[in-house]
Amino acid sequence: MKRIGVLTSGGDAPGMNAAVRAVVRKAIYHDLEVYGVYQGYQGLISGNIHKMEVGSVGDIIHRGGTILRSARCPEFQTPEGQEKGLKQLKAHGIEGLVVIGGDGSYRGAKALTELGYPCVGVPGTIDNDIPGTEFTIGFDTALNTIIDAIDKIRDTASSHERTFIIEVMGRDAGDLALWAGLAGGAETILIPEDPLDMESIKDRLLKGLERGKKHSIIIVAEGVMSGNEFAEKVKQMTGIDTRVSVLGHMQRGGSPTAADRMLASRLGAKAVELLLKGKGGRAVGIERNELVDYDIIEALAIPHKLDLNISRLAKELSI
Ligand code: ADP
Repeated sequence: MKRIGVLTSGGDAPGMNAAVRAVVRKAIYHDLEVYGVYQGYQGLISGNIHKMEVGSVGDIIHRGGTILRSARCPEFQTPEGQEKGLKQLKAHGIEGLVVIGGDGSYRGAKALTELGYPCVGVPGTIDNDIPGTEFTIGFDTALNTIIDAIDKIRDTASSHERTFIIEVMGRDAGDLALWAGLAGGAETILIPEDPLDMESIKDRLLKGLERGKKHSIIIVAEGVMSGNEFAEKVKQMTGIDTRVSVLGHMQRGGSPTAADRMLASRLGAKAVELLLKGKGGRAVGIERNELVDYDIIEALAIPHKLDLNISRLAKELSI
């Protein structure tokens, strides 16, 4: 292999830049040429592809977002779109591609793999919902952003003796809500994987009030329902007035934490190692702090699993 490409796709995540940097530097270190594909699969189809040098990725390790930019590209979900992308890769002499992104981006890499093209998926999403890895790039940073918000909201919640509902991202996965809820000391956490019925939520809130607890923090994963919807339900069942805070896109931004920079650097380099060995069709990840790689098609067939022990612990510690 002489020339590889790298793209970022789907929802951006802090640490994507550190992963791009690792791919580019590791490739050049091993005398490979490396091309950046801009705007995800959209840029792949339109040929927005440019050579990258050591300096192209200077000064980005600490920056959120992605210098390669990202896009949603429905056309790449069609066989015609995929053929166009493949044609561009061939026209540029790119022999292997590193795809940094979430679940949808992995499906794009899977499509290229099925067409016989060597691709390696690197998990970049704040949602932590990619199979074949315990952690995704961006999760730790988003988690810290949410914790920061919870701490601040807690100050006002206790001053005004109010119950706050904080809606967090995560798509269908509850990892962000659960980890943030546990680390932020939330009284109640609603996640899709371990649903709480409204009766037990009501009991918790009322019991808290009985023993003099004047304020509480409830975390709702967007995959369960919106914070406003939940506030309505709480009002109907308990008469308690709550305040809702929807954290939104701020969860995607910011300078990546040291943990995310480390993860991105290790996984980006690992992806290049695999391509150097002629191993395409893989998805890289981390398990028990060891780098691992799986067949990307098999990995995508495994549903994401949240650690229910953490959910149990959160319940035990928020009595
Ligand atoms: P994420 O990668 O963060 O999950 P998306 O789900 O929006 O974000 O996916 C990003 C892009 O991946 C889509 O815009 C599309 O171009 C591509 N993609 C998603 N699903 C498929 C699929 N089944 N086949 C081919 N490409 C796909």
